[in-house]
Amino acid sequence: MADCLFCKIVEGIIPSQKVYEDDFVLAFKDIAPQAPTHILVIPKTHISGAADITPENSAVVARCFEVIAQLGKDIEGGFRVVSNCGGNAGQTVPHLHFHVLGGAPLNLTMA
Ligand code: AMP
Ligand code: ZN
Repeated sequence: MADCLFCKIVEGIIPSQKVYEDDFVLAFKDIAPQAPTHILVIPKTHISGAADITPENSAVVARCFEVIAQLGKDIEGGFRVVSNCGGNAGQTVPHLHFHVLGGAPLNLTMA
């Protein structure tokens, strides 16, 4: 999508600190970390948010969670996965993303 920040990161137009990439999924460090480890895992295809997951596009969502499981192995003590959807939830980037947070005890407001 032309005007989407995370699509631009996927395309390399905007730089990111990548921690994982394959044909379908990209994971990169959040620019404003809320925890010692704060990674964003996104599908490379544009999906606006969790409310737009459908039978037609959910395979890439499953792939995101396979990547989260792999990344999580390196996060000692466990981790949290968060996906904000819509304004009341605080979603600021309308491209589906999963916050992966860890590295310290987390409070309930993180991400
Ligand atoms: P949300 O508020 O749930 O939509 O999450 C969007 C996240 O994207 C926030 O945690 C931001 O810090 C993060 N973010 C915004 N711009 C960038 C960027 N250029 N690189 C990495 N993370 C970003
Ligand atoms: Zn996008």
